[in-house]
Amino acid sequence: MKFEAIAVEKIPMIQKGDNLSSIICERIELQDRDIVIIASTIVAKAEGEIFRLEDIIPGEQALEIAARTGKDARFTQAVLARSREVFVETPFMLVTTISGHTCVNAGVDESNIEHGFLLYSPEEPDASASQLGEELERLSGKQLSVIITDTNGRAFKIGQTGVAIGIYKIKPIKRWIGEKDLFGKILEITEEAVADELAGAANLLMGEGAGGIPVVVIRGLDYYFEGDASVKDTYRPENLDVIKKGLRCLRKKN
Ligand code: GDP
Ligand code: MN
Ligand code: MN
Repeated sequence: MKFEAIAVEKIPMIQKGDNLSSIICERIELQDRDIVIIASTIVAKAEGEIFRLEDIIPGEQALEIAARTGKDARFTQAVLARSREVFVETPFMLVTTISGHTCVNAGVDESNIEHGFLLYSPEEPDASASQLGEELERLSGKQLSVIITDTNGRAFKIGQTGVAIGIYKIKPIKRWIGEKDLFGKILEITEEAVADELAGAANLLMGEGAGGIPVVVIRGLDYYFEGDASVKDTYRPENLDVIKKGLRCLRKKN
């Protein structure tokens, strides 16, 4: 068994309004059931999610948090603008974004963007993935899956990894429940986070720095799913999320 991960070379610096699907299709001949993995950074750039730090006016909550934590109030405002709940303020802001993704700084980024600018994360990454997927399918004439990725930290472990924040035509979770293990025992709980695993694999070629590889195509794994899929299916329901419950308790105490 094997699969390929192919870096799409020579993608330019992406600007607001750029047509990512044609930029990609001009640089790689896509095949049926390819999984096109796109860094959220370039999706956000194309969608114009670029803001000048000095233009951001901090609101009351941002000023309060900044006073408590010593962080830049404008950066704090940018994070709050994309957050629906704040769990941790310092040493980093851990939030759930408006689209439901829980991560540090709501994905607002100062890296791989010009000095003095902030790059927000795509506001509805599933919708961005669907739009890109439909255009890529139309331009290439192939059946494709798309994953938009970002680099996220993990609870309990040092080191960040690529994760899926938006998807198109791929089920993000592979359920092993009901399948047998090597000894014939029926698996009862295992669900494999395949979209995150693919994002992690692609991130090995993207890296985090000046590599200039924001698109990777995974070929040879069949996860194509002809139907509605949402990364939101991977967010643990509120009543079962013990970590969020714990963090809310801590916030009340402080
Ligand atoms: P994120 O994980 O989505 O936040 O994206 P990163 O900032 O980690 O960048 C992932 C990859 O995309 C790295 O190889 C960057 O050098 C590259 N990258 C970021 N922006 C651009 C761009 O506008 N053009 C090109 N060609 N590469 C970019
Ligand atoms: Mn990022
Ligand atoms: Mn990254």
